[in-house]
This record gives sequence, structure tokens and C-alpha cells, in this order.
Amino acid sequence: MKAHSLLALSLALATPTTFAQRNFDSVEIKVIPVAKNIYMLEGSGGNIGVSVGTDGNLIVDDQFAPLAEKIDAAVQKLNPGKLKFVLNTHHHGDHTGGNAAFGAKDATIVAQSNVRKRLFAEANSKKEALPVITFDQSASVHFNGEEIKLLHQGPGHTDGDSIIFFTGANVVHMGDQFFNGAFPFVDLNSGGSVDGYIKTVSAVLEKTPADAKIIPGHGQLASVEDLKNFRAMLVETSDIVKKGVAAGKSLADLKAAGLPEKYKDFGTGFIKTDRWIETIYNSATKK
Ligand SMILES: [Zn+2]
Repeated sequence: MKAHSLLALSLALATPTTFAQRNFDSVEIKVIPVAKNIYMLEGSGGNIGVSVGTDGNLIVDDQFAPLAEKIDAAVQKLNPGKLKFVLNTHHHGDHTGGNAAFGAKDATIVAQSNVRKRLFAEANSKKEALPVITFDQSASVHFNGEEIKLLHQGPGHTDGDSIIFFTGANVVHMGDQFFNGAFPFVDLNSGGSVDGYIKTVSAVLEKTPADAKIIPGHGQLASVEDLKNFRAMLVETSDIVKKGVAAGKSLADLKAAGLPEKYKDFGTGFIKTDRWIETIYNSATKK
């Protein structure tokens, strides 16, 4: 887990004022080859997936608005050509901030229906920033010689998450359904659910070949093994908290009891151990 992406995430969740005051000048976009024609870009905010080829360019998520030019330049350097598609894994600002810039340049933005609803509801949302193609369950973009499949598994990180499968390159972009090596942020106020989050991770593992590369929403490029470890953590920690709730323990009791020592490092990121316990508790007791 990179400190700067955690900082970006915390800022994405902070007030718009804090957000606007952020200086993005020093952010560099780092390009990481993933497999075949697929790359991952790290900058500030959610990791970006890129497909380059004879059909043009496609990106998955676009971080923050002030970074759009730098992202564009990094993609152009990989493959000079038109950015044809932007796929949004979900609506959060650290994944969709560049939408307006890329939409204005005629990229087609694709996302699950609830992403459009949530972006539309934001007071400062521009028309160009909105997805123009939406879907409820799944959609496919046939591009650069492969089927790029967007799959919505139900509520998880939010109520509008898509998992993106690059079926030919054997790469999966998980959006914020995967925080590699860290406790995840589950946005209960945007229709998220801890049980749904775990279900989605399990569904992805069932569909994904063992040698696939996984791009997490936050953290370093991952393997299927990393995703399995993440799921094991999710299942064990949520069971501990849910058993506590069933036994009548209060949130304060559960926080005092903590989580197993082996998960200590997961709590050093943006979501600390107490906050993760609280998220599971709130998700489990939500009426
Ligand atoms: Zn998010």
C-alpha cells in the first residue's frame, strides 16, 4: 500500500474544500506493465488500468481532475492514438475525477447505472463527466482483440461497483473491491455492504484463473494469491465482529477486543483497525 494513494483516498473522502486545495503538481504518473497490452498507472487516487492497441486506447478509472493531462500524456506515450473509452469501476472522486476532461475529448464513459445516478446527483457534476453507456448487470467492450467485460455483482464497496475482466490478457481490475494488503473502505452511505463486499471478492476468485494479474483499486499490482489472502482476512475479521454482535457485545467492547495480531499490518493504511471493526459492526446491525 502506497502512502500517497492512501493520502489521496483520505482526501477524496474529505470535504470538497480540502480537496480543491490539494496540490497535484508534484504527482508523477508511474506506468507498470501488467500483461500483454495492459498497463497499470499509479499517480494519486485509485489505480488506473489501460488497454492500448490498434483500436485505440481505453482506461479503467481516471483519478483526480487535475491529473487528467498527465494521465493522457502517459497513455499517449504508451500508444499515440485516441482515448476511446473510460470505464468507471464506481463513482468515488478518486476514480472518476478525470471524467469531465476525457468526456469533453469524446471518450465514451461506461459505468453501472448507479454510478451515473450518483455522479448526476453531485452538485458540481458536469454533463461531460457522466457515463453515456450504463448497464445494470454486465456489459462488454470488444476492443483491442479481446472482450473487456464489466460485471456488477450487487452491493459491495458501493451500490454501483463493476469488476473489469480483460479476458484475453488475463487481467482483472477490481476497483475498490480490493485494497491490496489493507482493510477496505466500505461505503455504507452509498449502498455498500460488508457481506456484499465479501460475496463479490469470492465471485471474482471463482471466475479468475490462478495465473491472472489483479489490479486493486488501491495498493500494489497483485496476484490471485494476494486476493485470496485479502478474502481470508475479510471472512475471519467479519466473523469475529458478527459473533460478538450476536453475543450482545457493544461496539466499544469489540474495539477493545481488537482483531488477530496477524492482521495488524492491514490496519496501518487509510482504514485503521477500529474503523474496520466499526464498519463491520454498522453493516451487520444496519436496519
Ligand atoms: Zn472507492
